[in-house]
Amino acid sequence: MNADKIRTAIKKFDRFLVSAHINPEGDSIGSQIAAASLLRRLGKEVVIVNESAVPHLLRFMKGTEDILKEMPANFKFQAAIVLDCPDLTRLGKISECIGKDTTVINIDHHISNEKFGKYNWVDTKSSSVGEMVFELFKAFRLKIKYDEAVAMYVAIMTDTGSFKYVNTSSSTHKIAADLIDSGVEPYDMYGKIYETSSLQDTSLLGEALQTLRVSDDGKIAWLWVTKEMLKKTKASLEGTEGIINFARSIEGVEIAIFFRETGTEGRVKVSFRSKGRVDVNKLASFFKGGGHTTASGCTVFGKMSEVEKKVLKQAQVMVK
Ligand code: 5GP
Ligand code: MN
Repeated sequence: MNADKIRTAIKKFDRFLVSAHINPEGDSIGSQIAAASLLRRLGKEVVIVNESAVPHLLRFMKGTEDILKEMPANFKFQAAIVLDCPDLTRLGKISECIGKDTTVINIDHHISNEKFGKYNWVDTKSSSVGEMVFELFKAFRLKIKYDEAVAMYVAIMTDTGSFKYVNTSSSTHKIAADLIDSGVEPYDMYGKIYETSSLQDTSLLGEALQTLRVSDDGKIAWLWVTKEMLKKTKASLEGTEGIINFARSIEGVEIAIFFRETGTEGRVKVSFRSKGRVDVNKLASFFKGGGHTTASGCTVFGKMSEVEKKVLKQAQVMVK
């Protein structure tokens, strides 16, 4: 499957739902806005509906104001475009809106993607769904407008950690260059995404770093954000984004693990990052999560100490 085949599929329908995974980030939101804009330019009717709200940090992007949290009752769509989502359960309650007669167009780059659509365009070599949506614009021969370029640039920039993760390729840079030619200013985008931390979020980082531990062999580093820390610093859960990179950046560390108490009792959100040798998608899959080879996540139920023990034990097995 490729952009041309998705183009042929899109042409068959008039009314679309566009959705992406729960707790969306730059790639899912940016890709959604750009894809919805493309569809509207083709004269299609589109609603974008996500279970979770758009993170505050991303609301500067034009089009985020159109993203709904509930399916409009009177909108009957024929096809659902699901973006950046490895399986339908990751859509949360929006998956309930997708019936047997809905055609699902699955556009994703997760290695754990379950190919749940009628059309499955899954490119695990692509840095981001943002890159794939860019290819779709090319397939339709549409000239990219400024707001679309911003959305795709943000998608690519955030999923590549600002063009530095292992998923960054020459085509990533070529696409970024094209988006810059459409008016995007890299310095402006970087500032909006990476230089807008609140004092509270930075205090939270300080608290989290106090919990940083490294295994005896130096290969696993982990840290925590607890409910208490969130309360003490008045930081937001959104402010925890990026903290895991401090664990990953330690020399010799192969797996970084970030534990977060999400607010629901007995529920811990676990994020994994790898420098490449260890496949953390497999590690997350062990706990019924998923993601990419170098970035993945899952939710583990239990007391904090138990969750930490269980996860570290499995990480030790994988790192050998
Ligand atoms: P993060 O650690 O930033 O939340 O997520 C890293 C990657 O893992 C993302 O691609 C995200 O979609 C995926 N991921 C995170 N949590 C889960 C989960 O609970 N289940 C699945 N299947 N994927 C997850
Ligand atoms: Mn992505």
